[in-house]
Order: sequence, then C-alpha cells, then structure tokens
Amino acid sequence: MTNPLGVHALVWVGGTTPDDVARAVRQTKAAGYDLLELSLHDAVNLDAAAAKAELEAAGLGIACSRGLAFDADVSSADSAVVARGEKLLHDSLAITHALGGTHFTGALYSALGKYGAPLSTQGRANVVQVLKDLAAEAAGLDMTLGLEICNRYETNVINTAADALLLADDIGADNVTIHLDTYHMNIEEDSLDAPVRLVGDRLGYVHIGENHRGYLGQGHIDFAGFFGALAEIGYTGPITFESFSSAVVSPTLSNDLAVWRNLWDDGMDLAVHARTFMADALAAAGA
Ligand code: MN
Repeated sequence: MTNPLGVHALVWVGGTTPDDVARAVRQTKAAGYDLLELSLHDAVNLDAAAAKAELEAAGLGIACSRGLAFDADVSSADSAVVARGEKLLHDSLAITHALGGTHFTGALYSALGKYGAPLSTQGRANVVQVLKDLAAEAAGLDMTLGLEICNRYETNVINTAADALLLADDIGADNVTIHLDTYHMNIEEDSLDAPVRLVGDRLGYVHIGENHRGYLGQGHIDFAGFFGALAEIGYTGPITFESFSSAVVSPTLSNDLAVWRNLWDDGMDLAVHARTFMADALAAAGA
C-alpha cells in the first residue's frame, strides 16, 4: 500500500488559529495518518510558517482545499464577482505553497451551495479562463490542482466524473487533476467503480466519506467497489478521510456543507476507525 492516507482537519478542529493547527497536527499523527488536509475557508488566523514547522516536525504531508463563495465566485457571469473568486484562489494557492503543500483541491470553480439556475455559458468560460491562469501559476511552483466533483446541491459546475473530464480538457493543463469523493459520487454517479475507471490516470486526489459523512461502514457506500477500482487503475495518490459532525464547527464551511447533525463526538475514535477501515479496504483490493 503506497497511498498516503489523510484526514480532514474538521475531524479535529473548526478553525486555523495556531492552537487549532497544532492540535490538528498532533491528533493526525497520533491517529496514524500520513497527511492532514486543511480547509482554507477560514484561514485568516493561519500562521503558515508555524504550521509548516509543526507539519515537518511531525513528518506529515499537507493538502489544502476550499470552495468559493457566492460573492466571490469564478463561475459567475459578473466580472467583479469572478475577480474576487480569482483572488481567493491565488491567495489560497500561495498559502498551500507556504505550508509546503503540493496539492490544492476542492470546488475551485464555484461557491459551495445550492444554485438556483444552471451554469451559464459565460460562467463556464470564466471558470476555464481563471483555472488556466491558476494552473500556470501552480505549474511554476510544481503544484497540482484538483477539481473536486460535488453534488448538485453544492455546485452547478461539475456533478459527475464525465463533467469534470470535459472541464479539465477545456482548461488543458497537465497539472489539473480530478478529485473524486465517494459522498458526492453516491448522489450523482451510476456506481462507485465505473467513474474511477473513467478518470483513470487523471485521478489526483480522493475523499472517502460515508453517505451521511459519519463513521465509515455505517452507511451504504460500496467501498469495496470503489477501492477495487482504485487498485485496478493503479492509483498511488492521497486518500483522505472526510467526516463532519455538529461536534466540530467551522464558522463558514460547516454551514456551506449543511452539517446540522451530530454524527460523532470523539474525533480520535472516528479517525482511528477510519484509518483502519481504509487500510483494510486497500489491502482487500490488493493495492
Ligand atoms: Mn470532499
């Protein structure tokens, strides 16, 4: 098994103050993970230099993720709204780099929330242009972008692997990869394995989440099918556990993701269980 296994920081903490980050790093290491994923939604308090030093001392990798906002959205047809979204993306890429990360992923193409209409032609053209420029900047830093495919209630830009491949083709940069998330796939795809094969070697990042985003194995996601397909395509990139509960709240991200329920209280128990679950699933798949 060569995939780095990661955990999303919201399993531990809701913010990115120096104390929050130190705690997230400590807990990620203690739970046996290789990588911490940090959302940059509320990164105003982040001390990137201190965080980088803590990650290095713990021997942990870092990946960063985010979605945009309705008033800072590169899929808008309004150029002022697009410009604010573009600034968030460039600032977040710089923070990821300052943390020592090479993967910047998520809904980099829209807000995270329910849209009231389909994506416009101008909006899609704006996404392509902004992400072309961001990909060029990322390439200069040896960094990779991920297009995380999200369900229809969180974006109108890409809901399926097929949509994401078309968008990536139009962006046309080798460092723009596809990011699959089992939680979203469960809502939009025909199966958990065929999209993995469709994406193939363009897969760059993976989120593992249950259909209710709680404990792995308690819901009905076909993890055997998903991990089997990952092994089939020879995927060696990061696999990150993502879970949310009202027990740990981010001031903005939790609301964007509609985290209203208490699915767990003990992040450590959850994370240790998830790490074993993912390692066992990889082993069973022959990865
Ligand atoms: Mn995700």
